[in-house]
Amino acid sequence: MKICVIGNGGREHAIAWRLSISPSVEKVYAVPGSAAMSNCAELVGIDWSQTDLLIRFLKDNKIDLVVVGPEAPLVAGLADKLNAVGIPVFGPSKAAAQLEGSKVFAKDLMKKYDIPTAAYGVFSDVDEAKQFIAKTGAPIVVKADGLAAGKGVVVAMTVEEANAAVDDMLSGNRFGEAGSTVVIEEFMKGEEASLLAFVDGKTVVPMIASQDHKRIFDGDKGPNTGGMGTYAPAPVLTDALRDEAMNSILEPMVAAMEQEGMPYVGCLYAGLMITNEGPKVVEFNARFGDPETQVVLPLLEGDLGQIMMACATGTLKVDMVKWKDSSAACVILASKGYPETSSKGDVILGELVQYDTSIIFHSGTKLEGEHYVTNGGRVLGVVGLGKDLRTALDRAYERVNHITFKGMQYRKDIGAKAFK
Ligand code: AMP
Repeated sequence: MKICVIGNGGREHAIAWRLSISPSVEKVYAVPGSAAMSNCAELVGIDWSQTDLLIRFLKDNKIDLVVVGPEAPLVAGLADKLNAVGIPVFGPSKAAAQLEGSKVFAKDLMKKYDIPTAAYGVFSDVDEAKQFIAKTGAPIVVKADGLAAGKGVVVAMTVEEANAAVDDMLSGNRFGEAGSTVVIEEFMKGEEASLLAFVDGKTVVPMIASQDHKRIFDGDKGPNTGGMGTYAPAPVLTDALRDEAMNSILEPMVAAMEQEGMPYVGCLYAGLMITNEGPKVVEFNARFGDPETQVVLPLLEGDLGQIMMACATGTLKVDMVKWKDSSAACVILASKGYPETSSKGDVILGELVQYDTSIIFHSGTKLEGEHYVTNGGRVLGVVGLGKDLRTALDRAYERVNHITFKGMQYRKDIGAKAFK
């Protein structure tokens, strides 16, 4: 097969790399990709929003399948447009992508189908939102309804902080239209885990559980980011808890989407809180997680091209998906100022090649002359692989020790929770 991956971040680098070593895949293209992705894909200088150009390219080159990496094209309806001209897509329709695109949509659907999640209220009026906060008390969580690049959530420890978040989103216009409605929800206590699944509209096959590190600083301090590191498998999601999450969350949600007339195709990402009452949904995403993908896909033993095509054509089988009995850890190297700002153009020094036991996925880099330079908030995802998590972490940090750029920041405690 010839497969085209849409996107240019670390997640897409991992997807393109894993596809490139799949037996069923003859060639991988990346639209637009990044310079670093040319180690596993041919770069195509088209933006996904130039739909006519993209379709012409896909047809001219007889592309068998398109894999959409980021959420924005999905929420904008790219999968619908490609499906309409007969091109199979791994990724949900515009209607199904609302699971990520609108928190109100996701929460209302979970409520309707009795899927465990935090109790919540929906508000567009500042006074009503503040009354709800006063009545519920802190800690409490305020979320912008629409897409906000992972920054639209405030976990408020005090009522004042929650009120300030409401002011910021509803009156201050912080996220524009995406923040003109907010979801305010009960604070859930527990440890988080990410459970991603391959979905073909009906059949749901779970991936190996992983854990993200969302805060910028060690010890889960500081503001939320897009994700500072991951590891898999995550022991917090035991086999029993994973089965529970499949039975009470992922399978009912996929059945609900079908029932609602918007069958879900692609990767369904459930962000879970493992509470005393069992797993509950923190959020759904309509695509692979970044940086969960960087640790999950290296542990996949099946043929990713075959699995993704089966999802796109409604023929997914449980036995297509197998996992290695080993571990992976990813440490994100971020640029100066992240997450508030980011620094571009700082030269990256060190060895960026791939070994059997460590891989470097590029999140935000650019090639300038002979050197890669920083080109965004998250710069590199350094992945270590090993027979157990300790070995994987040691291999990742060993590589990190040999990479440097001005203002480089990273967490030193990735995976620490697994040893508690
Ligand atoms: P989200 O973008 O919805 O995943 O939220 C970002 C982060 O905020 C999550 O990964 C959690 O760490 C935290 N969070 C979101 N909702 C809740 C909640 N109801 N209770 C506790 N923490 C939450």
